[in-house]
Amino acid sequence: MTLWRQVRWRIVAAQLAVVGAGVTTLLLVAEWLAGYHVAADLVPVLAALARQDGGLDSAAAAAVVGGAFRRTVAQALLPAALAATGVGLATSLLLMRDILRPLRELAAGSERIAGGSYDQRLAVSGSDEFAAVATSFNRMAAMLEQVEQHRVALIGDVAHELRTPLAGIEGYLEGLVDGVIPGDLETFTLIQQEVRRLHRLVSDLQTLSRVEAGQVPLQRRSFDGGELVQRMVAQLRPQLEGQALEITVEVPGTPLWLYADPDRTAQIVLNLVGNAIRYSPQGGQVRVRVEASGEQGQLVVADTGIGIPPEALPYLFERFYRVDASRSRRSGGSGIGLTISRHLAWQMGGTLTATSAGVGHGSTFTLRLPLGQPPDGKGEAEGYS
Ligand code: ADP
Repeated sequence: MTLWRQVRWRIVAAQLAVVGAGVTTLLLVAEWLAGYHVAADLVPVLAALARQDGGLDSAAAAAVVGGAFRRTVAQALLPAALAATGVGLATSLLLMRDILRPLRELAAGSERIAGGSYDQRLAVSGSDEFAAVATSFNRMAAMLEQVEQHRVALIGDVAHELRTPLAGIEGYLEGLVDGVIPGDLETFTLIQQEVRRLHRLVSDLQTLSRVEAGQVPLQRRSFDGGELVQRMVAQLRPQLEGQALEITVEVPGTPLWLYADPDRTAQIVLNLVGNAIRYSPQGGQVRVRVEASGEQGQLVVADTGIGIPPEALPYLFERFYRVDASRSRRSGGSGIGLTISRHLAWQMGGTLTATSAGVGHGSTFTLRLPLGQPPDGKGEAEGYS
């Protein structure tokens, strides 16, 4: 970098340019004004004086006075220029200190963050532009630190989740090799279950990463929410055979047009109804309701199952969070179904929330989505305004 390009020298040069412009202008203007004023003001006075004592030539006197004036200006200019240069340099140094110090700190902080020290923060002092830059920098550093913590936690969580089914498979295989477990259909079915769990976990993780990055392609259109829910529940009914679990669906008399991706909405409904079934004991009830609510449509899945403790509710939608880890794992849960569902709901302009009156008192999950227009020629949009 040439000297000229450095901020400090540009500041000095700017100050000196101001001094130079001032000195030059003063010289030129004084020269011009001297001639004018001497001619206009002094010459008549000197002429009158000359007439009185008769000895002084007014033109020569004007030249003497004009010369004296010019010398005075020229001599005054030197100390003025020196003083201006001195003040210019001093203010340049002060300015440089004020500008360059925070810039250097910013550069050093960025370097340390680039090196992986995400806990770096800049000192915020005053309320000027540099304080604003430092505040933004610190916010960025905090975000990066959070992302890094998430990344580390994710790797730990994934490793932990993979360990359980892998340990299961390893255990069965060791038992088979040692001849402790019989190599029969039951054993192979158990191994197959663990492999399926692994498979589901991996594909859920893949979906989660795409959903969190906002990379799931959405095909939004108007569809009848009631019809979709009935179809999904009909799909799940065979799973309920032999279980004393009642599932009911309430839909409005007229279509409830929702504007969202029907496939992704179906995925959320399957997750919610699947959970309601999974976490409801025998004799329980699952009610699925489709209705309009203000500017939105809502799909409500309520069960009379095991319920959710109040302290768990805030974490329910975090990935890998399970209220009862061993129960959820046993039933094949990956703990990311709700995380995926909530992200999908958000991306479709909706929300997904959960409430529960506590352990043993059932749970209610509500999916809200924007209302849509009826497709051309299909019924009226009444009943859900
Ligand atoms: P999982 O695959 O483990 O069910 P989810 O993300 O779908 O993962 O759910 C996360 C956790 O939320 C579950 O492990 C369970 O503890 C709790 N949960 C979800 N739905 C219900 C429900 N209907 N009743 C009680 N607990 C539920």
